[in-house]
Amino acid sequence: MQIKDTVICLRAVNYSETSQVVTLFTRDSGKVGAMAKGSRRAKSSFDGPIELFSFGDVVFTVKDSGGQLAILTEFGQQPRFRMLSQNLGALNAALFAAELTEKFLEDHDPHPPLFDKLIKFLEMVQETKEDSQILAWLILYQIRLLEETGVGLMLDACVNCSSPINQNSVGTAHPTYFSSRENGLLCSGCEMAFPEKRAIDSTLIDILNSPAKLPKTDMKQLKQIEQLLIYHFTELLHKPPRMAKYFKK
Ligand SMILES: [Zn+2]
Repeated sequence: MQIKDTVICLRAVNYSETSQVVTLFTRDSGKVGAMAKGSRRAKSSFDGPIELFSFGDVVFTVKDSGGQLAILTEFGQQPRFRMLSQNLGALNAALFAAELTEKFLEDHDPHPPLFDKLIKFLEMVQETKEDSQILAWLILYQIRLLEETGVGLMLDACVNCSSPINQNSVGTAHPTYFSSRENGLLCSGCEMAFPEKRAIDSTLIDILNSPAKLPKTDMKQLKQIEQLLIYHFTELLHKPPRMAKYFKK
Protein backbone atom coordinates (compact mmCIF):
# COMPACT_ATOMS: atom_id res chain seq x y z
CA MET A 1 0.00 0.00 0.00
CA GLN A 2 1.39 3.40 -1.03
CA ILE A 3 0.81 6.32 1.34
CA LYS A 4 1.34 10.07 0.95
CA ASP A 5 1.75 12.10 4.09
CA THR A 6 3.47 15.05 5.74
CA VAL A 7 6.20 14.11 8.19
CA ILE A 8 8.80 15.26 10.63
CA CYS A 9 11.82 13.06 11.24
CA LEU A 10 12.30 12.03 14.88
CA ARG A 11 15.35 9.83 14.33
CA ALA A 12 17.74 8.99 11.53
CA VAL A 13 20.36 6.25 11.66
CA ASN A 14 22.83 5.45 8.88
CA TYR A 15 22.33 2.05 7.31
CA SER A 16 25.04 0.80 4.96
CA GLU A 17 27.14 3.22 2.91
CA THR A 18 24.24 4.87 1.19
CA SER A 19 21.00 4.32 3.10
CA GLN A 20 19.26 5.33 6.29
CA VAL A 21 16.66 3.91 8.66
CA VAL A 22 14.42 6.75 9.82
CA THR A 23 11.69 7.14 12.40
CA LEU A 24 9.07 9.50 11.01
CA PHE A 25 6.18 11.16 12.77
CA THR A 26 3.62 11.24 9.98
CA ARG A 27 0.58 13.46 10.35
CA ASP A 28 -2.03 10.86 9.39
CA SER A 29 -0.37 7.51 10.16
CA GLY A 30 1.48 8.30 13.39
CA LYS A 31 4.97 6.96 13.99
CA VAL A 32 6.43 5.02 11.07
CA GLY A 33 9.83 3.35 10.84
CA ALA A 34 11.11 3.44 7.27
CA MET A 35 14.06 2.42 5.14
CA ALA A 36 15.37 5.21 2.90
CA LYS A 37 17.44 3.39 0.29
CA GLY A 38 20.13 5.54 -1.26
CA SER A 39 19.24 8.61 0.82
CA ARG A 40 22.92 9.35 1.47
CA ARG A 41 23.81 9.39 -2.21
CA ALA A 42 24.46 12.76 -3.82
CA LYS A 43 21.47 12.23 -6.08
CA SER A 44 18.35 10.71 -4.57
CA SER A 45 14.62 11.29 -4.40
CA PHE A 46 14.97 12.52 -0.80
CA ASP A 47 16.52 15.96 -1.35
CA GLY A 48 19.69 14.92 0.44
CA PRO A 49 20.31 12.90 3.60
CA ILE A 50 17.43 12.84 6.06
CA GLU A 51 18.14 14.47 9.39
CA LEU A 52 16.44 14.91 12.70
CA PHE A 53 13.69 17.54 12.19
CA SER A 54 13.68 17.06 8.42
CA PHE A 55 10.17 18.12 7.42
CA GLY A 56 8.11 17.74 4.28
CA ASP A 57 5.87 15.56 2.13
CA VAL A 58 6.70 11.90 1.67
CA VAL A 59 5.57 8.84 -0.20
CA PHE A 60 6.12 5.47 1.44
CA THR A 61 4.86 1.93 1.07
CA VAL A 62 3.87 -0.39 3.86
CA LYS A 63 3.43 -4.13 3.70
CA ASP A 64 -0.14 -5.20 4.40
CA SER A 65 1.16 -7.69 6.95
CA GLY A 66 2.67 -4.78 8.90
CA GLY A 67 5.43 -5.16 11.44
CA GLN A 68 8.24 -4.38 8.99
CA LEU A 69 9.94 -1.17 8.02
CA ALA A 70 8.08 0.92 5.49
CA ILE A 71 9.95 1.76 2.30
CA LEU A 72 10.38 5.48 1.81
CA THR A 73 10.30 6.37 -1.88
CA GLU A 74 10.08 10.19 -1.88
CA PHE A 75 10.82 12.99 0.58
CA GLY A 76 10.35 16.58 -0.56
CA GLN A 77 12.28 18.22 2.26
CA GLN A 78 11.46 21.80 3.25
CA PRO A 79 13.99 23.79 5.27
CA ARG A 80 11.46 24.64 7.94
CA PHE A 81 13.50 24.09 11.10
CA ARG A 82 16.93 25.17 9.90
CA MET A 83 17.13 27.85 12.60
CA LEU A 84 16.98 25.31 15.43
CA SER A 85 20.69 24.53 15.23
CA GLN A 86 21.58 28.18 15.87
CA ASN A 87 20.37 28.29 19.47
CA LEU A 88 21.55 25.53 21.80
CA GLY A 89 18.72 26.09 24.30
CA ALA A 90 16.08 25.76 21.58
CA LEU A 91 17.86 22.78 20.05
CA ASN A 92 18.00 20.92 23.37
CA ALA A 93 14.29 21.56 23.97
CA ALA A 94 13.50 20.31 20.46
CA LEU A 95 15.66 17.21 20.97
CA PHE A 96 13.88 16.50 24.25
CA ALA A 97 10.46 16.85 22.58
CA ALA A 98 11.53 14.56 19.72
CA GLU A 99 12.85 11.91 22.10
CA LEU A 100 9.67 11.87 24.19
CA THR A 101 7.43 11.86 21.12
CA GLU A 102 9.32 8.90 19.70
CA LYS A 103 9.07 7.00 22.98
CA PHE A 104 5.41 7.69 23.74
CA LEU A 105 3.93 7.06 20.30
CA GLU A 106 3.04 3.57 19.12
CA ASP A 107 3.76 2.59 15.51
CA HIS A 108 0.98 3.43 13.05
CA ASP A 109 -1.19 5.05 15.72
CA PRO A 110 -2.26 8.41 14.26
CA HIS A 111 -2.22 11.60 16.35
CA PRO A 112 -2.78 14.51 13.93
CA PRO A 113 -3.43 17.11 16.68
CA LEU A 114 -0.16 16.14 18.39
CA PHE A 115 1.67 16.36 15.07
CA ASP A 116 0.36 19.91 14.64
CA LYS A 117 1.38 20.77 18.20
CA LEU A 118 4.91 19.47 17.66
CA ILE A 119 5.29 21.57 14.49
CA LYS A 120 3.97 24.62 16.32
CA PHE A 121 6.31 23.95 19.26
CA LEU A 122 9.35 23.67 16.98
CA GLU A 123 8.40 26.87 15.17
CA MET A 124 8.01 28.74 18.44
CA VAL A 125 11.26 27.59 20.05
CA GLN A 126 13.40 28.22 17.00
CA GLU A 127 12.25 31.85 17.06
CA THR A 128 12.66 32.26 20.81
CA LYS A 129 15.88 33.46 22.42
CA GLU A 130 14.70 33.62 26.03
CA ASP A 131 15.41 30.46 28.04
CA SER A 132 12.29 30.82 30.21
CA GLN A 133 10.05 31.04 27.14
CA ILE A 134 11.73 28.01 25.56
CA LEU A 135 11.12 26.04 28.77
CA ALA A 136 7.50 27.23 28.94
CA TRP A 137 6.91 25.98 25.37
CA LEU A 138 8.60 22.68 26.17
CA ILE A 139 6.44 22.13 29.26
CA LEU A 140 3.30 22.97 27.28
CA TYR A 141 4.23 20.42 24.61
CA GLN A 142 5.06 17.79 27.23
CA ILE A 143 1.64 18.26 28.87
CA ARG A 144 -0.07 17.92 25.46
CA LEU A 145 1.98 14.82 24.65
CA LEU A 146 0.79 13.15 27.86
CA GLU A 147 -2.83 14.13 27.13
CA GLU A 148 -2.73 12.96 23.52
CA THR A 149 -1.21 9.60 24.39
CA GLY A 150 -3.82 8.91 27.06
CA VAL A 151 -1.79 9.57 30.18
CA GLY A 152 -2.76 13.18 30.86
CA LEU A 153 -2.14 14.48 34.36
CA MET A 154 -5.18 14.38 36.67
CA LEU A 155 -4.65 17.30 38.99
CA ASP A 156 -8.04 18.41 40.33
CA ALA A 157 -8.83 15.73 42.92
CA CYS A 158 -7.17 12.98 44.93
CA VAL A 159 -6.77 9.96 42.61
CA ASN A 160 -7.47 7.60 45.51
CA CYS A 161 -10.52 9.05 47.30
CA SER A 162 -11.66 11.68 44.73
CA SER A 163 -11.81 14.40 47.37
CA PRO A 164 -11.08 17.76 45.76
CA ILE A 165 -7.64 19.21 46.37
CA ASN A 166 -8.37 22.61 47.81
CA GLN A 167 -5.51 24.72 46.58
CA ASN A 168 -6.00 27.43 49.18
CA SER A 169 -5.62 25.05 52.11
CA VAL A 170 -2.58 23.30 50.71
CA GLY A 171 0.32 24.52 52.75
CA THR A 172 3.54 23.22 54.18
CA ALA A 173 1.67 21.58 57.09
CA HIS A 174 -0.23 19.23 54.76
CA PRO A 175 1.72 18.93 51.54
CA THR A 176 0.00 17.51 48.49
CA TYR A 177 1.78 14.73 46.69
CA PHE A 178 1.96 13.73 43.05
CA SER A 179 2.19 10.03 42.26
CA SER A 180 3.45 9.09 38.84
CA ARG A 181 2.14 5.54 38.99
CA GLU A 182 -1.31 6.77 40.06
CA ASN A 183 -0.96 9.57 37.52
CA GLY A 184 -2.33 12.24 39.82
CA LEU A 185 -2.53 13.89 43.21
CA LEU A 186 -2.80 12.27 46.62
CA CYS A 187 -4.49 14.12 49.48
CA SER A 188 -2.98 14.26 52.97
CA GLY A 189 -5.37 11.52 54.11
CA CYS A 190 -4.32 9.06 51.41
CA GLU A 191 -0.66 9.76 50.70
CA MET A 192 0.64 7.47 53.49
CA ALA A 193 -0.51 4.37 51.59
CA PHE A 194 1.47 5.28 48.47
CA PRO A 195 5.26 5.01 48.68
CA GLU A 196 5.89 6.32 45.16
CA LYS A 197 5.20 10.05 45.29
CA ARG A 198 6.70 13.49 45.24
CA ALA A 199 5.57 16.61 47.08
CA ILE A 200 4.13 19.27 44.81
CA ASP A 201 3.59 22.92 45.60
CA SER A 202 0.02 24.24 45.28
CA THR A 203 1.07 27.07 42.96
CA LEU A 204 2.53 24.49 40.55
CA ILE A 205 -0.73 22.50 40.57
CA ASP A 206 -2.55 25.70 39.70
CA ILE A 207 -0.22 26.40 36.75
CA LEU A 208 -0.38 22.81 35.48
CA ASN A 209 -4.19 23.00 35.58
CA SER A 210 -4.11 26.24 33.55
CA PRO A 211 -1.25 25.87 31.06
CA ALA A 212 -2.15 29.25 29.53
CA LYS A 213 -0.33 30.70 32.55
CA LEU A 214 2.97 29.07 31.50
CA PRO A 215 4.34 31.93 29.34
CA LYS A 216 4.01 34.29 32.33
CA THR A 217 5.48 31.88 34.87
CA ASP A 218 8.92 32.70 36.25
CA MET A 219 11.98 30.57 35.56
CA LYS A 220 12.19 29.16 39.10
CA GLN A 221 8.67 27.74 38.95
CA LEU A 222 9.11 26.54 35.36
CA LYS A 223 12.17 24.58 36.47
CA GLN A 224 10.22 23.05 39.37
CA ILE A 225 7.47 21.98 36.97
CA GLU A 226 10.03 20.52 34.56
CA GLN A 227 11.62 18.52 37.41
CA LEU A 228 8.20 17.09 38.23
CA LEU A 229 7.61 16.16 34.59
CA ILE A 230 11.07 14.57 34.32
CA TYR A 231 10.25 12.55 37.44
CA HIS A 232 7.00 11.47 35.78
CA PHE A 233 8.63 10.58 32.43
CA THR A 234 11.33 8.62 34.27
CA GLU A 235 8.68 6.57 36.09
CA LEU A 236 6.64 6.02 32.91
CA LEU A 237 9.66 5.01 30.80
CA HIS A 238 11.41 3.13 33.65
CA LYS A 239 14.54 5.20 33.06
CA PRO A 240 15.40 8.87 32.69
CA PRO A 241 14.94 10.29 29.18
CA ARG A 242 18.32 10.86 27.52
CA MET A 243 17.78 14.63 27.20
CA ALA A 244 16.61 15.06 30.81
CA LYS A 245 20.15 15.78 32.02
CA TYR A 246 20.17 19.07 30.12
CA PHE A 247 17.11 20.22 32.04
CA LYS A 248 18.18 19.27 35.58
CA LYS A 249 18.48 22.55 37.50
ZN1 LIG B 1 -7.41 11.08 49.13
